[in-house]
Amino acid sequence: MALSGTNQGQARPHNRRTVLEAIRQHGPISRADIARRVGLTTQTVSTITSELLDHGFLSLRPGARKGRGFPAPCFEIAPEGAFAIGVSISPRGLEAGLMDLAGNLVSGRRVAASRLSAKQAFGAIRELVDDLASGHAEERILGVGISLPGPFGIEAMSFVGSTTMEGWSEADIREGLHDTLPYPTFVDGDMSAAAHGERLFGRGTEFRDFFYLYMGVGLGGAMIYNNQVMRGAHGNASEIGHIPIVLNGEPCSCGNRGCLERYFSLEAYDRRVPEIGEAAWLDEIRPIFCAAIVTIENMYEPETIVLGGQAPDGLLARLLALADDLPVSLGARSDRKVPRIVPSLAGSDAVIRGAASLAVNRVFAPGETPPDRSGRDAAPDLFSSRMERETR
Ligand SMILES: [Zn+2]
Repeated sequence: MALSGTNQGQARPHNRRTVLEAIRQHGPISRADIARRVGLTTQTVSTITSELLDHGFLSLRPGARKGRGFPAPCFEIAPEGAFAIGVSISPRGLEAGLMDLAGNLVSGRRVAASRLSAKQAFGAIRELVDDLASGHAEERILGVGISLPGPFGIEAMSFVGSTTMEGWSEADIREGLHDTLPYPTFVDGDMSAAAHGERLFGRGTEFRDFFYLYMGVGLGGAMIYNNQVMRGAHGNASEIGHIPIVLNGEPCSCGNRGCLERYFSLEAYDRRVPEIGEAAWLDEIRPIFCAAIVTIENMYEPETIVLGGQAPDGLLARLLALADDLPVSLGARSDRKVPRIVPSLAGSDAVIRGAASLAVNRVFAPGETPPDRSGRDAAPDLFSSRMERETR
């Protein structure tokens, strides 16, 4: 990711985020190397790193000795410097986790409940959040990120409204969550959130433009372009599971026929494998899986496709093996250095980690602010709200 600070006086919050992002991506790293990477003076970097050290976001380690002379100390992210809470709302219930600044899930909770009223759900979320935050100073909690199953605003394709939080619109849910929780709260679709987590703490450290393909009960995903999650006009891109891929194929819950996720998803796996066995199922879906890859490549031209989700590890590996001999597409470049499809690094906690990542964004990744479609102002930049007050 190309990072750049600005040497103008009013830009300190932006520069703090830029410096912290550079340390996150490249640490341990010396002041001089940070300055080179982000285009700030060593003096400016020095001021900022001192502040970040004081606030506990960074730790310092001795640099490696190169030739003669005293080695410059190097900075790295202090995982315990701050935490974010991720909550995933799904038709099966609620899941929550506490994540540190390095992306590690420190603890987790689960409430299995398939039919909660919104009021019950808000109460349960408040309890989960209080429980996970207990023992940590309030100022160490960056916020709460909440993921909802999408898509939003297309009743026939959405889980929301028919199961958890029955009868509540997306707007009601967003508003209710903001009123319920004592921390800055960010709400996003589950696929966008998971893609966001992969960008911050997974393959995003290697790839800038990649398609994140998530195999859950259904099939979803998101394109990450230039380190930003492409959200679409209404925040629903990309509902790849409902691409019609088999003409006059199996009927889908969305009302169409032959949708991709009717063949390639955990729902399809659980339905077909008991009938025909896994090996036959893999054979059956090979052409569909390959067509999906080619479609994604021809649409978005990603560096690679990252396959993740809730499938057992062994299954993901066997799916990746189906892509050994892919048809031609924009992805079939002769100068390719990476495979056309690679496994996700996020594991099965991708959605929780992704939800928490929405709040971590308050301190990293200058330029990207999580969406807040509740109509309220997004939470202020952490650094402008806290540090500016203290350093004035
Ligand atoms: Zn469909």
